[in-house]
Amino acid sequence: MQNSLNYIVSKSEIGYILNNVLKGDRLNLHDCKELIKSDDLYTIGLIASTLRKILFGNTTTFINNIILNYTNVCVTYCKFCAFYRPPGHEESYTHNIKDIMKRIALSNEMFGITQILFQGGHNPNLSIEYYEEIFNEIKKFYPSIAIHGLSASEIDMISKVERSSIKEVISRLKDAGLDSLPGAGAEILDDRVKSVISPLKIKSNQWLNIMKEAHDLGIKSSATMMYGTVETDDEIAQHIMKISELQQKTNGL
Ligand code: SF4
Repeated sequence: MQNSLNYIVSKSEIGYILNNVLKGDRLNLHDCKELIKSDDLYTIGLIASTLRKILFGNTTTFINNIILNYTNVCVTYCKFCAFYRPPGHEESYTHNIKDIMKRIALSNEMFGITQILFQGGHNPNLSIEYYEEIFNEIKKFYPSIAIHGLSASEIDMISKVERSSIKEVISRLKDAGLDSLPGAGAEILDDRVKSVISPLKIKSNQWLNIMKEAHDLGIKSSATMMYGTVETDDEIAQHIMKISELQQKTNGL
């Protein structure tokens, strides 16, 4: 094994990255760019597998989850989105608490779910009480089901509707039962890309700051990347580095 690893390290143009991760180094911006450029899939796989083993050993997990899109009303009009409908549109909807609880009861009965991914559009007609009431009710009847809900941009929308700080909004939602934040809305954390594909959405630093506020309040989050639009390889690498820096700062991912 050691011989074949030495061979790969010496022959592959990204072998030095494998060597560095085997020594315990984190990936840096240059490594990310080289990995994106490389077509040496075998070594990329070895690097990914090494990092996974360092971080998680041989543990693999999954979540038995439903996606609950509580509203499709949105005023942010992202260019790539086919889900939203403007306020007042004939196909727009917002689920009430009764419908939401019915859906959860059915999913729990059929599949024994352990998590609800609760996400929707940026609906300016929903106050924070709408979310608090739903989260309280979920936790009252299903205390062991986790609520993974509301992306950073939905949190921003609620703070605008409420004229409250991000911190206050997240604290209130946490008290009501919010367990963690989905990483949606990051797309590519670069304002040039955002100005083209989602000009009305929060900017990169706002996304990062909201996640940091959540982590500081004990709410963990995931992080996503939506690529394949107008971004460059360099912007993808920067995106990964920004998330890595956030993770190092707060350990909340
Ligand atoms: S904020 Fe979300 S729901 Fe609204 S348009 Fe953008 S992607 Fe669609």
